[in-house]
Amino acid sequence: MSLLEIKNLHARVGDKEILRGVNLQVNAGEVHAIMGLNGSGKSTLANVLAGRDVYEVTEGEVLYEGENLLELDPEERAQRGIFMAFQSPIEIPGVNNAYFLKAAINAVRKARGLEELDAIDFMKMARERLKLLGIDESFLKRDVNFGFSGGEKKRNEIFQLALMEPRLAILDEADTGLDIDALRAVGSAVTKLRSPDRAFLVITHYQRLLNYVEPDFVHVMMDGRIVRTGDASLAKRLEAEGYGWLEEEVRRAA
Ligand code: ADP
Ligand code: MG
Ligand code: MG
Repeated sequence: MSLLEIKNLHARVGDKEILRGVNLQVNAGEVHAIMGLNGSGKSTLANVLAGRDVYEVTEGEVLYEGENLLELDPEERAQRGIFMAFQSPIEIPGVNNAYFLKAAINAVRKARGLEELDAIDFMKMARERLKLLGIDESFLKRDVNFGFSGGEKKRNEIFQLALMEPRLAILDEADTGLDIDALRAVGSAVTKLRSPDRAFLVITHYQRLLNYVEPDFVHVMMDGRIVRTGDASLAKRLEAEGYGWLEEEVRRAA
């Protein structure tokens, strides 16, 4: 059984159909990259998987561990081990990052029937993960994302991912604004955190990100569908030649 199975997924916002038949299978242990031009529907796919209700699913299904994901509310999805990293993480002035992360982890652990972490265990785990990811310990003492640069927000998100130990991590990367250090931090974190029982869905505009993480599969979205699947060499070709050749091939096949 696949960890995630998306079959003929259609979704719309208002009258506008955005996803128009997405098919995708993700197995534990795999890293999948989803690429595509701006407006092709990548973030919409992430939002539907996250359960954001402005997106209405009109056809198709999404199975997670064999269960209908679309029936679960966003909290239940998190409790079952899905982690979503979005383009713009929230800022919470006045709330200490360590405090916030410990509460978030414990909510999920509790729902999964695991023992909650006390302050000492949490700090031990937090320091170990920060070290693994090469992130400064000062992150623990700051307010949640408040006054963080774009790159620092990314690192904080990766840190959160490392603490949550998800089964399926979905990262939606911004189309613009990530500097090379932040891209490297995201890419190398995925490499460090990948494991046989965890899968990643990395949505990115940038082939550059894929210099730091070798995906098992690269999918290209166009007009609300995955139109091509390949390995890392597909991403390299898109970087070198753009999307024109693929648009042409898709048009000819239609
Ligand atoms: P990508 O992430 O690939 O750039 P998006 O999923 O953000 O693409 O957007 C795909 C299309 O859907 C775009 O035309 C976008 O304007 C539209 N869209 C996405 N979300 C909304 C929304 N909440 N309301 C209206 N249109 C939306
Ligand atoms: Mg976009
Ligand atoms: Mg997007």
